[in-house]
Amino acid sequence: MSTRADVIIIGGGPSGVAAAVELRRQGVARVVLLEREPHLGGATRHCSHSPFGIREFGRVYLGAAYGKRLEREAGHAGVDVRLGHSVTQIGADGEIAVSSARGVETLTARRVLLATGAREMPRSARLISGDRPLGVVTTGTLQTYVAFHGLMPFRRPLIVGSELVSLSAAFTCLTHGARPVAMIESAPEPLARAPFRWFPALVGVPFHRGADIVDIRGVQRVEEVSFRRADSGVETVACDGVLLTGRFVPESALCRQSALGVDAGSGGPAIDQDGRCANPIFFAGGNVLRAVETGGWAFREGRAVGRAIARDLAHDEGASEAVPVTFDAPLKLAVPSLLRRSAHAPAFPDFQLRFTRLAQGRLSLELDGREVWHKRGDWRPERRILVPIPPAAFHAEHVHFRFREGE
Ligand SMILES: Cc1cc2nc3c(=O)[nH]c(=O)nc-3n(C[C@H](O)[C@H](O)[C@H](O)COP(=O)(O)OP(=O)(O)OC[C@H]3O[C@@H](n4cnc5c(N)ncnc54)[C@H](O)[C@@H]3O)c2cc1C
Repeated sequence: MSTRADVIIIGGGPSGVAAAVELRRQGVARVVLLEREPHLGGATRHCSHSPFGIREFGRVYLGAAYGKRLEREAGHAGVDVRLGHSVTQIGADGEIAVSSARGVETLTARRVLLATGAREMPRSARLISGDRPLGVVTTGTLQTYVAFHGLMPFRRPLIVGSELVSLSAAFTCLTHGARPVAMIESAPEPLARAPFRWFPALVGVPFHRGADIVDIRGVQRVEEVSFRRADSGVETVACDGVLLTGRFVPESALCRQSALGVDAGSGGPAIDQDGRCANPIFFAGGNVLRAVETGGWAFREGRAVGRAIARDLAHDEGASEAVPVTFDAPLKLAVPSLLRRSAHAPAFPDFQLRFTRLAQGRLSLELDGREVWHKRGDWRPERRILVPIPPAAFHAEHVHFRFREGE
């Protein structure tokens, strides 16, 4: 079987659906949306809480209802949605290998959008030592159990993490009959902003900052966990599960096994100001770019990249050589990490930056060695930092973010 499309979109979460709908609105005829799950909606589907949809649809949805709204939007727009279709390989010329109940097929397209989202770091990648009993799961797994199978894998879990998603995890526990015994965070401060960071105290769950798991014990299922506190003392809590939250990484397996590769900072595909990759057939948008943002953010990003793809197909001007965006440590990433010469308004009006750790100092942007922007501050890890992309950046040979600690 073979299909030739104008655009193939891989991933039916908010960013993929928004891009597909926008492409149809812009008059692109054959838009194929491939999603491995049986429904559209991506990570929002298993969120039993709100808020989703405020900016894009002007009303507040629970996650599952938001996913259904996305499904309706794609249907009304005339997108060719193929559910239960897993993309297993992407080729440099736009050839896509897809596996589904119908077997394996090859699809080709003039442009391909990667919108495969992000996933939480599992136990193995966090290098957590100890026994390997049942009961150690991520938020995504917990919420999938709860939302789709009516199962709660524990009653007294220890929650690891303090991002927004960690609070979503705590909320899921509390509303489905589980009572977390504690929350721990390895960073010196909670990662969620106020007022969210006060949530554990409000619901009476002890919170330990600067704490790391040193041992998990249990024969069949988790029985107790020891963690090192910020004062170096080791504390042991009885619990029947460990809930690993946050520390999202882009779902970029397809990029890694192809010539596209991934950007060393973000772990996702390198893109330019229009979401275009080094191979100009490919584009990317949403959480695959730098891991987690809100659903609304992913939606707006997908829509903007969809518009850029439609313009590219209409004018077919080709893509100029890309200039890499470089940065000093402890900056973690810059998105876009490539810039191309262009005169039109970009899909990404801002650089998105993140730091790996808490740092105090002066951050500046240099174009060909000349400083064009700077700001002093306390820069927190994993917080979104936006720096408007000056038009001159699209014509520069060297684009660099400099950081001077302590200045
Ligand atoms: C637990 C949790 C709570 C959250 N709470 C909120 C909240 O309250 N408010 C909010 O705004 N946001 C929230 N978010 C964030 C929001 O869900 C995400 O920002 C949004 O879903 C990202 O959209 P996306 O399209 O980039 O990726 P995703 O939604 O992750 O979608 C990616 C899609 O790609 C598919 N896919 C991946 N690889 C392939 C492949 N090879 N072949 C075919 N399909 C593939 C996946 O199945 C998935 O459906 C939460 C996220 C989580 C995990």
